[in-house]
Amino acid sequence: MNLPDPAVHVSGVTEVADGVLVIPNEHVGLVPNIGIVGGTEAILVVDTGLGLTNAALVRDFAEEVARGRRIHLTTTHFHPEHAFGSSVFDSYLINRAQADDLRRKGSGYLRMFRGFGGAIAERLADVEIPVPDEVFDGVRALDLGGRTVLLRPTGRGHTLGDQVVEVPDAGVLFTGDLAETGQFAIFPWFPPHDTDVSGLAWIGVLDGLIAGEPRVVVPGHGSVGDVAVLQGVRDYLGELRDETWRRRDSAAGLDEIVAEVTAVLAERHPEWAGREWIEPGVGCLCAE
Ligand SMILES: [Zn+2]
Repeated sequence: MNLPDPAVHVSGVTEVADGVLVIPNEHVGLVPNIGIVGGTEAILVVDTGLGLTNAALVRDFAEEVARGRRIHLTTTHFHPEHAFGSSVFDSYLINRAQADDLRRKGSGYLRMFRGFGGAIAERLADVEIPVPDEVFDGVRALDLGGRTVLLRPTGRGHTLGDQVVEVPDAGVLFTGDLAETGQFAIFPWFPPHDTDVSGLAWIGVLDGLIAGEPRVVVPGHGSVGDVAVLQGVRDYLGELRDETWRRRDSAAGLDEIVAEVTAVLAERHPEWAGREWIEPGVGCLCAE
């Protein structure tokens, strides 16, 4: 496999709301959108990029922004490009289910990602599984000074431990990989090692997030937008479910179902990247 170097570029940073910055992923695979939310006393970084060099770049940039304010880090879920740089921060807060994901599956994902070789393996050479400084149950209201952000676990969706980050005063929502734009939804369905993703639960999570009517939605990968970002993923997951279920009780084998559903959905979304994510999505929904 020869994947591009997942380098974070802080030069592309944009302000999506008052005091809310996004370092955009510029549509490079394995680079997440990274958030920085500022209060008067502290700032919160959301996700790290893949590996310690990317994360140190993000931390250094956050220090410039913070100008002496305290810096906290949280991550949206345990996947390597979102969380595997966390050790360069000294206040790392995550929800309990995500901490469990890191402990149970972190080393397996580290092995898998190192197996991609090239720049990805190099960026992970010195990484150990991140250990949070604070693990919380329920919703964690984090007071940044004049602004409280909500770290809200969603329950099972893209992973078991997903959480979103809400900035209520600005109407901003960071979704992690519960949402992507310009690509097919990422299904980390890797039986028998990891079958925690649930297409059905994910649809339910998105319905809940849509009902919250966020004004600015920052997806895990892709372009920042409004609630339409969530609706787009919700609609796609509905299509994937319907097209899969329509076929799964027929005489067709899984390979045939995958081929048919891939053809239908690729035709419906010709401009989207990541067609390889349709197959694990079908596998997941066949099991639900
Ligand atoms: Zn992910």
